[in-house]
Parts: sequence; C-alpha cells; structure tokens
Amino acid sequence: MLDRGLYIHIPFCAAKCAYCDFYSLAGNEKTSIQSDYVDALCRSAEIMSSEFSNTVFSSIYVGGGTPSILPFSLLEKLFASLRENFKISEAAEFTVEANPATLTEEKLRAMTEGGVNRLSLGCQSSNDNELRKLSRIHTFSEFCDSFNMARKAGISNISVDLMYGIPLQTTDSLLRSISDIARLSPEHISLYGLRVEPDTKFGRDRTLVLPSDDTQAEMYLSAVRYLAELGYERYEISNFAKDGHYSRHNMRYWECGEYLALGPAAHSFIDSVRYSYDRSINAYISAVREGHMPEYAECTLLTDEDRQEEYIFLSLRLEKGLSLDSFEKKFGSSAKEKLISLAKPYIPKFMVLDSGHLKFTSEGFLVSNTILSELI
Ligand code: SF4
Repeated sequence: MLDRGLYIHIPFCAAKCAYCDFYSLAGNEKTSIQSDYVDALCRSAEIMSSEFSNTVFSSIYVGGGTPSILPFSLLEKLFASLRENFKISEAAEFTVEANPATLTEEKLRAMTEGGVNRLSLGCQSSNDNELRKLSRIHTFSEFCDSFNMARKAGISNISVDLMYGIPLQTTDSLLRSISDIARLSPEHISLYGLRVEPDTKFGRDRTLVLPSDDTQAEMYLSAVRYLAELGYERYEISNFAKDGHYSRHNMRYWECGEYLALGPAAHSFIDSVRYSYDRSINAYISAVREGHMPEYAECTLLTDEDRQEEYIFLSLRLEKGLSLDSFEKKFGSSAKEKLISLAKPYIPKFMVLDSGHLKFTSEGFLVSNTILSELI
C-alpha cells in the first residue's frame, strides 16, 4: 500500500477578501451550484477510487475557498463519500479550513462525525480595522466565538492563520494579534506575509499603502521571536507549532510526498507527475457528470533536474533544512558538492551548515527567494 495525501478543493466563499487570488466563487454565483459541485466531488471520488485502491491516505485536507460555508447536509455527504471511496488510515490527520462567521455547531458535528480532527481557522488579525481593510467577513470577537465553538465540539488540534504586512498594520499591532491569538492556545499558527496579486482588489487599488519592506522584515523577525517566547516553534518559514503539532499534510508537500487533489484548480503530484484541473467549476461538473475526470490544465512529468530543483526549493522552507545525505542519495555527490559551493557565499549570515543539514537563518528566510534563484 502506498501512503499518500488527499486534497479536496471547495471553491466557495461568502465574499472575496481584498488580497485573495485563489480560485473561489463569492456572492450569488455560488448559491445554486454548491449541491451540484458536492455531487461532482462525490462522483469524482468514485471515478478515482479504483485507480487509488493501492493507496492509504494518511492526511486529508479540505481547503478552499471556505469549506465551512457548505451546509451541514453537504458536508456530511462529502465526508461519507470520501470514506466510502478511499482507504483512510485510522490515525489520519483530517483538516478542514474554516472561516469565522460560517461555522455552526451543526456543521462542526458533521465534521467530527465525519472524522475531522483538525481545523484551520482564518483570522489574519485581532484588529478589526485591519480585518475590514482586508475585506474579511468577521470581527475578532466572531473569530473567538468560532474558535471556542470548535473546542467545545471536541476539535483538539486547531491552526490559526495570521498575516503581516497588512495596510495600517504596525509591528506592535502584529504582536498584539499574536498575543490575542496565543491566549486561545491554538496548537498551530501560520503567519503569512501579504502579497499583492494583480487580479485582486488590492492589486487594482493604486492608492494602496503597505508597510515598507524594512518594516515588513522587522515584523516577521519580531513575530518569530515572540512566537518562540510563547512556545511556538517555527518548523517552516511561515508555520509554527506547539508540542510538535506540525501540519502533517503540509509537511507532505514540503517533503515532496505524493497527493491526489480533487476539484477545479487543484494540483496533484503522483508518480513524478504534477497535474491540475482547469479553474472552472462548470467544466469540472460537466466532465464528471459524463463519467470521467476533466482534461488536465497542466500535466508535467518531472525530469531529474526538476525534481532536484523542487527538492531544494521545498526542503529549504523547513527549519530543519535540507539533509545533505538524503540529497546525495537522490541526486549524487557532484550535485551535493555543487549545492554546497553555491550556498557558501550566503554562510553564515543567511544560511548555515549544521549537523549535515543546509538551512536558512531567520535573516536568510527573509531573502530566501533571491538566494534560491541562485541555488537552483
Ligand atoms: S476566505 Fe480565504 S479563499 Fe475566500 S476569499 Fe478570503 S482568503 Fe480567499
């Protein structure tokens, strides 16, 4: 049996956040289509079940979009179908992404009864002005209500998303957000820098003022120090966990593991092939109704060179860094020597060689994209 992950994309949101370019439908366009889409997901699970009968899924991630926007009955239907069509290990990590103001006790019951044992809750900030600026649909107090409701429903592993580099945000207000969140004691915190993508409300806003690059760097470094004081270990550039509660599903991505993904715009990685479906929910539903999966929007068989680049790029995101032994076993000693010599100019300020691992320092994480472009 092969050990793989399963990702399910739910492309619906209550409203579009100002910074978001994920594939999701917001507003009226989503209402009538939810049930058709969940039927299509269930049908695609059936179609893929025989191809994956040799697989045990040890991590499941239902992301989006906002999966918690689905009504109770559709959540129940989806979880039942996944269990019916795929072998899921008993100890699987089963995460659902949720947005405050869309969770209810009933939906949480559908989740826990369906085997969900981890919730990833979007918060972004504890400052309501910053939340409004991001066009989030909730206040911080509503976030706290959802968090407490999830705990009461028995979810013992909760991750909270935070953001830095928000318009109006200062280092002080970011640290206050971290302290407000830490008071709730989530097991895991993700901290992402705001990126302005062209096809978003922020991308189109010519008057947008963001904290300067220096301020954003100071925000990240201060946040990392403060999170460590609060007991949150950074294990990946943007992810922090208490007591080893790493995201097992995301670790699979960073460790180049395999995963099957269902839904429009969802990316799979199976047998050295990366493939994705188109960003069109209607094309997905129509194809599946005809009894087959949609055409691939992208399908790439990774060459050795691609695999080597991905390995460097993904493993250097991790705090433990890249194991030179494993790298040599996969790609040979001359590739290892070349990597070490390319990394040398960045040691010790931006990178370190420690116990057979090459890794970034905190300062290195801040400029990791520039350094990575030299390493690969
Ligand atoms: S809730 Fe998440 S997926 Fe939906 S628009 Fe906001 S950031 Fe994007």
